Amino acid sequence: MIQNSIKIIEYQIDNTNLAANFIRITISFEALKANPVLKIAAWRPGRYMLQNYAANIRDWSARDEDGHLLEVGKSERNLWQINAPVHSKVTFSYLYYCRQMDAGGCWSDTDLFYINTIACLMTVDGQENIPCTLKLNLPESFVVKTGMPKESDTYKVDSFLSLSDFPIIASPALTTFSYTIKNIPFYIHSTVDKSHFPKSITEDFKNFTEIQIADFGAFPEKEYHFLLLILPYQHYHGVEHRNSTVICLGPATDIKEKLYAELVGICSHELYHTWNICKIRPAEMRPYNLFKAQYFKTGFIAEGITTYLGDYYLGLAGVFSSEWYQEELNILLKRHFYSFGNDHLSIANSSADLWIDGYDAGIPNRKVSIYVKGAIIAFLMDTAIRKSSDNTSTLRDFMRTLWDSFQTTQEGYTEASIAALFHSFTSNKYVTDYGRWIYGLGDLKNDLTEAFYYLQIPVHEEAHSNFFARYFGLLCDTNFTIQSVDPASPYVNQVGKGDKILRINNLLVSECKMEELAELDALFIDYTNGIQIWQVELKRTEHLYFKALQIQLTEESKLL
Ligand SMILES: [Zn+2]
Repeated sequence: MIQNSIKIIEYQIDNTNLAANFIRITISFEALKANPVLKIAAWRPGRYMLQNYAANIRDWSARDEDGHLLEVGKSERNLWQINAPVHSKVTFSYLYYCRQMDAGGCWSDTDLFYINTIACLMTVDGQENIPCTLKLNLPESFVVKTGMPKESDTYKVDSFLSLSDFPIIASPALTTFSYTIKNIPFYIHSTVDKSHFPKSITEDFKNFTEIQIADFGAFPEKEYHFLLLILPYQHYHGVEHRNSTVICLGPATDIKEKLYAELVGICSHELYHTWNICKIRPAEMRPYNLFKAQYFKTGFIAEGITTYLGDYYLGLAGVFSSEWYQEELNILLKRHFYSFGNDHLSIANSSADLWIDGYDAGIPNRKVSIYVKGAIIAFLMDTAIRKSSDNTSTLRDFMRTLWDSFQTTQEGYTEASIAALFHSFTSNKYVTDYGRWIYGLGDLKNDLTEAFYYLQIPVHEEAHSNFFARYFGLLCDTNFTIQSVDPASPYVNQVGKGDKILRINNLLVSECKMEELAELDALFIDYTNGIQIWQVELKRTEHLYFKALQIQLTEESKLL
C-alpha cells in the first residue's frame, strides 16, 4: 500500500466479511526509527477522563513489505511495538469492536457504520505530525457523511491530531437537511428519515447558527456537519469536533415534539464549541496530548459558558419562547441547588477532578458539575458585566474578546488571563466575588438573588415537589432507592444514597398509595442497604428540603 517514498501514513477501514460489530483497521507507514511503536489515545477532547480504547482491539499483526509477519510486543496497555528496522515499510492491522452507541463511541452493524476516529485509530509514535490518508471500504450502498476533507475516494488530513477529530457515519439510509450562512454550508445528517423532524428544523438551526456567527464575527471552518444518531430508545449525548458534532438522541418517536427542544439545545451547545474549546482553549491543552491526562481548572469556561449561552441563544434568536427559556433556567437552578457538592469542592478543583469521576454521579456530594455550576457562574459573570458596563456589554462580548485574542495570538487562556479579562470588563468591581465563585464553596444563593434583582427577574425559593424530598430531605428514584439526602435533613445520619425503601407503615412500598401517605404526619420506613434492614420514623415538621431559587421572566425582565 505504500506509494513510492512519500512519508504519509495510510489508513484503511473495512467493515465487510468480519465477525459482527468488528471492523478491520489497516495502517501502512514507513518506520522513521527502528522498532516503531503504535499507540492508541488515552482520552478524547470533550471528555476529560481516561478511556480504555485498547479493550476493543484484538487480532493485531504486522507485516513487512514482502508480506512477512513481524513480531509485535506489548509494553504498555496502549502501546504495540513492532520488531522492524528503521525505514522499513510496515503494515499493521487489527480488529476493533464497535458496539458502544454514544456520541464518543463506535458502532458497526449491517446498516450503520459509525466511528469516532480517536477511539479506534492508532498512530505511530513520533510520527503524529505526518499527513494521513484514509480509505473506507464499506458496502456500496453506504453513504458516508463526515467533515473530513476528501480528494476523489481518499480522505486526506495533515496529521493524526487532525485525523482524530473527524467522526464518520455511513449508512444506506441517511437523510440530510442543509442551509447556508455567509457561503458556509451547514448539514444536518440523520439516521432517521425527515418525517421525524418538524418542518421548521432548518429555519431553527439557521437562526441559532446565524446569531452565534454574528457574535463572533466569523465562522472558523469552511463547512459544518451535525451528525444525528437518532435512536429507538432513550438517550442524550453530544460531542463537539472542529467542523462537526455527533449527537445521540432518542427515542426517535419523540424527536418531532417532546425531544425537539433537547435536539436544538444540544446542537446549539455543540456548535458553540466550534469557537469555545475547539479553538479558544485552555493553555494546558494547547496542543492536545491525547496520550496522557491534561489537567485544567477552567472547565467553567469550556462547558459552563457553552451550557449557559447555548440555551440563551435559542431564547435570544426566538427559536423558542421566553417561557421555554424561563423553564430552562429553572431546571438549571434546581440542578444547581440540589447539588450539595457545592459545599465540598470548588468549580476550579472540580474541573481538575474531571479526570477522576467528573462524568459520573460518584460518591455523595464530592464535587460540582462544570456544566451546572459553570452555567450558574456564567450567568453571574454575564450579569456582572452588564451591571458594570451600564448594560452596554454582556458575556457575549467577553467571549468575542477571547476569540479575537485567540485569533491574534493562537494561544490558550490561563486562569489568570480569564480573571484579568473578566476584571477588565467589570472595572475590578468583582475581584473578591469572582475568587469566591471560582475557588470557593457554596451555592451562591445571595449572588444569584442580587443578580436576578438587578435584571428585574422575580425570584422565590421553592422546595422539591416530591413528597419525600420536600418534607424529609430524601430524594428517591422511581424504584424508591435514595439518590440524594439533603444535608439539612434530620435523617442524614440514618439513611444514604443507594438505600432502598422496603415498607412504609408495614406495607410493601409497591402497595402504598402516595397521596394517602402525604396526609400523614409520621411514617415508619423500613430501609435496606442490601445487608441490613432497619426502621426510621419520619416526622413531618414545618421544615422543607431540597430548596431551589426559581424565577419568572416578565415583560420588565432585562435578560433576553
Ligand atoms: Zn459541551
